[in-house]
Amino acid sequence: MREQVIVLGGGVIGLAVAFELAGRGHEVTVLEANRCGGQASGAAAGMLAPYSENGEGPDDFFHLCRSSLALYPRWQHEVKLASGCTFEYTESGSLYVGYHEADELAMAERMAWQNEWGAEVSILSGQELREREPRIHPEARSALYCPVESHLYAPDYVVALEEGCRQRGVRIIDELGMLRVESWQNELVVSAGAGQRFEADRLVISTGAWSGQYAEAFGLNLPVYPIRGQICAYEQPTRAVHHMVFSSQGYVVAKDNGTLVSGASEDVAGFDTSVTEKGIERLIRWNKRLFPYLEDVQPFHRWAGLRPATQDGYPLIGKLKGARQVIWATGHYRNGILLSPVTAKLVADLIDESVEEDMLKAFAPERFT
Ligand SMILES: Cc1cc2nc3c(=O)[nH]c(=O)nc-3n(C[C@H](O)[C@H](O)[C@H](O)COP(=O)(O)OP(=O)(O)OC[C@H]3O[C@@H](n4cnc5c(N)ncnc54)[C@H](O)[C@@H]3O)c2cc1C
Repeated sequence: MREQVIVLGGGVIGLAVAFELAGRGHEVTVLEANRCGGQASGAAAGMLAPYSENGEGPDDFFHLCRSSLALYPRWQHEVKLASGCTFEYTESGSLYVGYHEADELAMAERMAWQNEWGAEVSILSGQELREREPRIHPEARSALYCPVESHLYAPDYVVALEEGCRQRGVRIIDELGMLRVESWQNELVVSAGAGQRFEADRLVISTGAWSGQYAEAFGLNLPVYPIRGQICAYEQPTRAVHHMVFSSQGYVVAKDNGTLVSGASEDVAGFDTSVTEKGIERLIRWNKRLFPYLEDVQPFHRWAGLRPATQDGYPLIGKLKGARQVIWATGHYRNGILLSPVTAKLVADLIDESVEEDMLKAFAPERFT
């Protein structure tokens, strides 16, 4: 059945949901307070790295991340086709570098369980690591190599998603300022400052780090809060780094546009997106321990974004028990770019009633209440 859907928030999650819903024939309006992609989504490093990001064990979150990575080859192709835009998507593989013997124990543990789930990881000796990354620090003694992880250029991906939405007939209204959910029990009504009023059958809330502000309207306790990520980029006219390279303190990833992106801090700073000397200096210090050639180079660009974090680290994806027409899609913290395809499909399945909600109970928005 064709539904009228309002999507609140035009970050990667809101746009991906709108793109998928429009592709399934729904009538979609995205309402954005400021500019689409202007917050966390446009600030991200774009790594699609479920194995590097989940070192602990195969929990529900890991499986969600892994299934989203599997969707990516086809999904990114669909976004490019629908939008006519291009963006970098590179299947580079990743390296997690160790400096001590003890690091290899942790690597072996990770390899054992991750290979059961398609990671294809192996432990590289120092020499094998240097064959892959000739400029790595001489003290790096081994690495966990995961060939199946990839990355994309997030700012261009978000632009392509927005254009893809428009091409599929999504109405996008931005610069709306503060939006209010006026009513939701009998009819769904959202209003914007200048007396604008929007009605729909369904409402998707994907306002990232700002999602908590809607919880009260639905009588919910939703612990979604901002965690600032500071990040920087070096100019890299000739490619000196070939994989996504992680250490215990951060990562670097080379982009086709001739930059080397390095991130990222995790600070509690409210809704402040400023960059601090301390935050970037820490990255610079660690980058030299990965690649000594960076000793004499300074980042040319520094920025920050607000990740939408939740109390238990899992996103909120699901309907409310007492308000079946309201669907939450938020709290993706460090992995919103990776999780955009799977979130889009799950939200569309929830609207089409083609998914067992029980399968999503680990991500149920009401788990905190
Ligand atoms: C430095 C950094 C590096 C990262 N690197 C990666 C990475 O490598 N890989 C990865 O997968 N993820 C990464 N992330 C995480 C990823 O960026 C986020 O998880 C993702 O962007 C969240 O998307 P979102 O759409 O939920 O939020 P956002 O992109 O923040 O979008 C929310 C939107 O809602 C709008 N909004 C807010 N309030 C309202 C309102 N009341 N009404 C309407 N609209 C509203 C905002 O203006 C914004 O446009 C990184 C994040 C940061 C900060």
